[in-house]
Amino acid sequence: MGVDQEQFWKYFNKWQPLFAETRTLLWRGEWLDNPYCPDCRYCCGPQDSDTPFPMGLLPWQLRPNLADDFYLLNGDTAYLAAKGCKSDGPCGCKLERIKRPVACGLFPLVLANGALYLYKTCPAVLAVPLYRFFELGRDAAIYLHNFSDAELRHIALNLSLETLAANYIDLEIRLFAADA
Ligand code: SF4
Ligand code: SF4
Repeated sequence: MGVDQEQFWKYFNKWQPLFAETRTLLWRGEWLDNPYCPDCRYCCGPQDSDTPFPMGLLPWQLRPNLADDFYLLNGDTAYLAAKGCKSDGPCGCKLERIKRPVACGLFPLVLANGALYLYKTCPAVLAVPLYRFFELGRDAAIYLHNFSDAELRHIALNLSLETLAANYIDLEIRLFAADA
């Protein structure tokens, strides 16, 4: 996922009338309960860019016929791009939560380059006070500390500093040392 300035304002103008009332986000122990998602669905659907957004899968999520559920970059990494996600259905994600990539349960929190960021274009990020996301980020970090360093590195994105600056807000929560 990536947005330039024009797209940011396109989404801002789209979300503003849809989400006039602020909604309450809650951390549910292993995933972020985001009441903006059912009326938004941006994350799972067709993306503006065909650059793959990788979603690492963990060993216990690997199963036969994985390609029925995901577009795959390789044997343990699904991705999302212009065609959206294969598991996106008319009523949202068709997969049980345990089968979804960890990244899906975190969004709009994003683990990238060893730290937690916030994806700027999500309507929840635009509507909910930023301090709430620092609290949710701390909760998510407690959960993510259950994973090994190798697992965290596998599910994390590696983004350029330019992309981070353009599309993400730094939550100042580091989980592992980023590669040099
Ligand atoms: S952009 Fe935000 S509100 Fe929309 S589906 Fe993704 S996480 Fe949910
Ligand atoms: S696995 Fe489900 S929640 Fe994750 S991107 Fe695909 S449809 Fe969305």
